Amino acid sequence: MTLSTSSARVDNIRHSLVGLKMPRALEMLDATLRQIEQGQIDGIEAIDVLLTEELFLRENRRIKAALRMARLPVVKTIAGFDFSFQPSLDRNRIMALAGLDFIDRAEVVHLLGPPGTGKSHLATALAVEAVRAGKSVYFIPLADLVAILAKAEREGTLREKIRFLCRCSLLVVDEIGYLPVTPGGGNLFFQLVNARYEKGAMILTSNRGFAEWGEVFGDPVVATALLDRLLHHAVVVQIEGSSYRMRQHASLLPDTMRTTSHITPNPPKRRGRPSAKEKHDQDQG
Ligand code: ADP
Ligand code: MG
Repeated sequence: MTLSTSSARVDNIRHSLVGLKMPRALEMLDATLRQIEQGQIDGIEAIDVLLTEELFLRENRRIKAALRMARLPVVKTIAGFDFSFQPSLDRNRIMALAGLDFIDRAEVVHLLGPPGTGKSHLATALAVEAVRAGKSVYFIPLADLVAILAKAEREGTLREKIRFLCRCSLLVVDEIGYLPVTPGGGNLFFQLVNARYEKGAMILTSNRGFAEWGEVFGDPVVATALLDRLLHHAVVVQIEGSSYRMRQHASLLPDTMRTTSHITPNPPKRRGRPSAKEKHDQDQG
C-alpha cells in the first residue's frame, strides 16, 4: 500500500467512526495507528482496542443514564457493605439476590430491620446490580409513591401512572413504616401492587414487622390484601443488628437503643380489631 492510499484509508476510517458515532475510537485512532507503525501491536489488536474502548464508554454512559432514570438517591454497592457488622445477615442470601433471578421470577424481596441496619443500602446496591445488568429500575420512598399516586388520582391520570410504574422490571419501595400513610394511600399502593403482582419484581424496605402493617397503612383490611400479594413469591430478609450510623457513638446511647432490636415479620392473622394481646404487643413495639 502506498503512503497516499493508506492516508486515504485512515481518512475513510475517521469518516466512518464519525458516522457511526464512535467518539472514543476516533479519539484513540491516531495513537493506535502509531502503535501499529512502531510494531507494538498488530491490526487485530488495534481493532480490539478501539472497539473495547468504545464499548466501555457506551456502557458507562448507559449505566449513568439508567441510574438517573432509576432515581436512586445515592449509589451504594454490595462490595461497599460490611457484612461483618451485621452477623445476623446471611451474606450468601444477599449474593444470591445479586444474581437477579428474583427479577426474572417477578418476586418480592422484603428487607426488614431497625433504622440504620443497611436496608436502603442493600436495596440500592441490588438496584445498581440490576441497572448494570440492563434491567430497568425505579426507586421511590413509600411516602413519595403514595403522594404521586394521590396526585394522579386527583388529576384523573391514575391508570397511566400505574402503567408507568409497572414498566420497570424492578420497583424499589423504600421506607415503609417510617411515616404513617396518608388516608387512602394504602388503597392506592394496593392498586399498584396488584398491577405488578406476578408481573414485575419489587424490593420493599421496612422498619416495621408485617403484623404492624395495619397500623402503618391505617387499615387492616388493606394491609391484609397487600400482604397477600406481597408475601406470595417473596423472599424475606430480616436484619437484627444495631445501627451502622450510630456505630461510633454506641457507648453514648441508652441500652434500649444500643441492643439488637427484633422485628417479628409475622403477617396479621385476622382482619378487624387486634386482640388485647396483639394490641399490647403493638403498643410495646
Ligand atoms: P436503613 O435503611 O436500614 O435505615 P441505611 O441503609 O440507610 O439504613 O444505612 C445507613 C448508612 O449506613 C448508609 O450510609 C449506609 O451506606 C451505611 N451502612 C449501613 N450498614 C452498613 C454496612 N453493614 N456496611 C457499610 N455501610 C453500611
Ligand atoms: Mg432506609
